[in-house]
Amino acid sequence: MHATDALIEAERLMTVCNSCRYCEGLCAVFPAMEARRAFPDGDLNYLANLCHGCGACYDDCQFAPPHEFEVNVPKVLAQVRAESYAAYAWPPAAAPLLRRNGLAVALIAALSVALFIVGFIAASDPAALWSSGAEPGAFYRVMPHGAMAALFGAAFLYAILALCLGVRRFWSEIGGSKAPALDTRALWQAVRDAGRLRYLDGGGMGCVTDDARPKDGRRHAHHMVFYGFLLCFASTSVATLYHYLLGREAPYDWHGLPVVLGTLGGLGLVGGTIGLYRAKQTRDPALVDPRQLGMERAFLAMLFLTGLSGLALLLLRDTAAMGILLALHLGIVFGLFITMPYGKFVHGIYRFAALVRYASERAATRS
Ligand code: SF4
Ligand code: SF4
Repeated sequence: MHATDALIEAERLMTVCNSCRYCEGLCAVFPAMEARRAFPDGDLNYLANLCHGCGACYDDCQFAPPHEFEVNVPKVLAQVRAESYAAYAWPPAAAPLLRRNGLAVALIAALSVALFIVGFIAASDPAALWSSGAEPGAFYRVMPHGAMAALFGAAFLYAILALCLGVRRFWSEIGGSKAPALDTRALWQAVRDAGRLRYLDGGGMGCVTDDARPKDGRRHAHHMVFYGFLLCFASTSVATLYHYLLGREAPYDWHGLPVVLGTLGGLGLVGGTIGLYRAKQTRDPALVDPRQLGMERAFLAMLFLTGLSGLALLLLRDTAAMGILLALHLGIVFGLFITMPYGKFVHGIYRFAALVRYASERAATRS
């Protein structure tokens, strides 16, 4: 018995594919499937999160609609994947957020925090709201460093806690806890596979589009977003070290490491999210699970706004718009943090866990 209709359909497809095996060279899903004879829910969730949705197995499939078998692996695994995010979410009561359009929640949180900051400054030091801020410490006239660290530290720690508890349940259900305690080789293999998005290349052809010509744009845009996010995180980490270890206060010079990392990261987020949005517009509709569109657009919109507001703050920090832009940027980052465990962000974490499991299984098969 399976918990949902999507899982029932996924089991049917995996049984058909396990007899056919035509697609075994395309990605990690098919070799992992071939190692199994039965497909309980945990294994189907594992296979669904291994799938990168390139669409190649739909394009190649002789049993795809209009064939009576109606095999559409990418779409069904996308449905199972989305359900798995809600099934393992922590706390479980927050799972409905994953099923609704998270954009409204994230934007309301972002605007609430931005308005709170603006209202706080307007009441305590109205002049600070319209002051320009290129000199060290200027940002902290808008919001004291202690308050900024407390607010964002709490939001960040909450997001990390919720993500860790969710992925711990996922890891346990996909059988990861039966693997050796710390399989460093499998971990390293998964880091390499995730870092180059190995299974998003459609077996070397690129992702399937609506004009049936595979293209690599989706993978390149995904890379820009992924590395843009990491660079923004690195920028914030370096700035924190500057503050606490060197006593140097933000904002920093244009050529300073936090600014260089943040600028490259912001450009990656803006360019990558535009590229992913365009790739969604040209995606073969047969592969799309319409129920996920709201969640995906919400995540892209929040990442785009994070990058854009960060770049605008950098460009206009010498002007009277600095205070408002800083409040807006902080609000958007806060909204991104608190909705991270309940939006598309989790796909990266679950997919990485599935890749570790896969690398560990392959190593066990070889030895
Ligand atoms: S997707 Fe189609 S062609 Fe590929 S293994 Fe499954 S049934 Fe065979
Ligand atoms: S990664 Fe691509 S080829 Fe593999 S199952 Fe998913 S859509 Fe099919």
